[in-house]
Amino acid sequence: MWNYSFAVPSLLVVLLYAVYYFFLPRIPIKMNRTFLRLLVLQCAVTVLDIVASCADTNYTHFHIAILYILNITYFVVFVLRSLHFYFFTLNVFKIDYTEFRKKSLIVRIPIFLTFAIILTTPFTHALFYIDESGYHNGYFYNFIYLIMWFLILGSYVVLFVFKDVPKRRRDIRGVFFYNTVLLAGSIVRLMYPDYLLMDTFCLIAITTIYLTYENPDFYLESRSYAFNSRALREYLDEINGKKKYKIMAFIIHNYGEVREIYGGRQMDSGISLIGTYLYRTFRRYKVFYFRSGRFVIVGDDKMDVEKIHKILVKRFMSPWKSSDTELYLEAGYAVISSDNMRSSDTILNMLITTLEVVEKNEDGSINYIDTKIVEAATKGTEVKKSLEYAVDNNKVEVFLQPVMDALTGKLVGAEALARIRDNDGKLVPPGLFIPIAEKNGKINQLGEQVFAKTCRFVKENDIKKMGMKWINVNLSPVQFMRTDLDQRLLTILKKYDIPPEVIHLEVTEDAMGEEGIMEKQIGNIKDKGFSFVLDDFGKGYSNISRLKKYPFINIKLDLSIVWDYCKEPDVILPNLVDTFERMGFSVTAEGIEDEKMAEAMTDIGCDYLQGYYYSMPLPMDEFVAKYGDGASAG
Ligand code: C2E
Ligand code: MG
Ligand code: MG
Repeated sequence: MWNYSFAVPSLLVVLLYAVYYFFLPRIPIKMNRTFLRLLVLQCAVTVLDIVASCADTNYTHFHIAILYILNITYFVVFVLRSLHFYFFTLNVFKIDYTEFRKKSLIVRIPIFLTFAIILTTPFTHALFYIDESGYHNGYFYNFIYLIMWFLILGSYVVLFVFKDVPKRRRDIRGVFFYNTVLLAGSIVRLMYPDYLLMDTFCLIAITTIYLTYENPDFYLESRSYAFNSRALREYLDEINGKKKYKIMAFIIHNYGEVREIYGGRQMDSGISLIGTYLYRTFRRYKVFYFRSGRFVIVGDDKMDVEKIHKILVKRFMSPWKSSDTELYLEAGYAVISSDNMRSSDTILNMLITTLEVVEKNEDGSINYIDTKIVEAATKGTEVKKSLEYAVDNNKVEVFLQPVMDALTGKLVGAEALARIRDNDGKLVPPGLFIPIAEKNGKINQLGEQVFAKTCRFVKENDIKKMGMKWINVNLSPVQFMRTDLDQRLLTILKKYDIPPEVIHLEVTEDAMGEEGIMEKQIGNIKDKGFSFVLDDFGKGYSNISRLKKYPFINIKLDLSIVWDYCKEPDVILPNLVDTFERMGFSVTAEGIEDEKMAEAMTDIGCDYLQGYYYSMPLPMDEFVAKYGDGASAG
């Protein structure tokens, strides 16, 4: 007599999983499909186990053929279940068993053999047989457990060989645990054949899988029905290179600021409103929320992105509203198509980069992600790497560009300009790395390296003999955020034991945005003996009256207004230079590229000239070679 007391509750629990699993959205990846089949097989095995055992007990009421069919079906689903546990292990390790073909022969042959034994059992009586006294195990009955152990062993082997594939340690522990539970279950079942215990152990294994890999909540954005970024990564990993697909993504304009304006709670509810709207409107496609106001819709290659774009633009014209939320939002859109050449990681990176760009795009049109954007993006990451390497290893180089006295044509000073090198040792222009350094905070270290190397240059060379009175060093507005900037500069200066008068600090007008802080900071640093120069005057919006508040000693005219004037002289620039002189500032003209420009700028009263006409920025040793003997080559 068999004991069902374990089987019935097991069945109920599996049904509970199945129901919960079915009612939440799932991404169609292999692992999930295997799990679904596993749930179905588990139900089938448990039901058949009960039904077949019941029939076997009351064998007199049944035709012998029915008894054979019931028992054979039970054995078939039993083996299929073991097989799916093994498949699940392959899924965790991202092994494609169609590509695994040759090696999987080792598994296929025994499986084939097993099914042959099961199906031929009515004739061979290998697994079981039924006679006048009912059901009996055959001489080969334990083969069913042998094959189960064989598959568990397969799982252990895969676990050992591929242990570096999964990203999380718990993925590996999970595989080990559920396989060990299955092993224990099979041993217990052999020891106590009368209890239908195997199902309970399988249930524990399934619960482990559910808790470790399959809980739908792992893949859902908590605020909506949209999938989360983990789901997006796994989904793209799986379809990339196998299926053609299109991605339509959008980002909420200025997400960070908007979030501050509306508050986190209202914004969260907005994200959930948008996610739910997308889920309901585009049921044919997969909707993902990719953090920070970014939504991603993935469809097949026939997905009509223009139509979706139109629908979304129209929807964003009206507010996102619920009982306690009302948000007016705008979005930027990007589209990317599948491409066999690229890994899913690259595609995601491209998407993120493009969304960063379109976040600021006001017109709301679609941006098709093409190679140009991608090249810019990869270039950006390369520059970032070179920058980090140079800054962290004190490898930022300082080039010097001479500044000439307009009247005598002789060297009076120089500007220190930062340079870094890429992987191939080629110079990267500051226009590329300074903005990145300002964004990621490396500018503080970079600025201090340039400052220190300039101080060292002053210490180690007789700059007076070269005719130089000072060297200009650029300061980024970001550096002024540090309230101890004056102390930091002073410390470096003291280390090289040079007077502060020889260093002039260049700041641009945009640094003066935060007037209160800047005035105070510049005041502090000036008190330590440094002088300030206003860089790039005329590049952007200029405010002359504001200059009075700051202790500048020199104004540098940006090359754009110098060039404009040289092309088409007018009265504005001469008057401006005149005004500066009256206000007590000396004036430097940047971007002097030929003799005529030098003359024109001298004529309107500029004191100093800087530009390629005199010299490109030079590495320090070349600078010394050129000007070191005190000759002011012109
Ligand atoms: P800037 O401070 O206005 O530096 C002058 C720029 O004009 C330099 O570009 C210089 O090479 C270029 N230049 C000089 N003469 C001529 C000329 O005759 N024709 C033309 N077309 N260009 C000329 P560079 O070295 O590429 O630096 C660009 C900007 O990067 C600098 O503009 C400065 O704002 C920034 N930068 C450079 N080094 C540093 C640094 O150490 N710290 C900070 N915060 N910014 C830096
Ligand atoms: Mg400058
Ligand atoms: Mg400049």
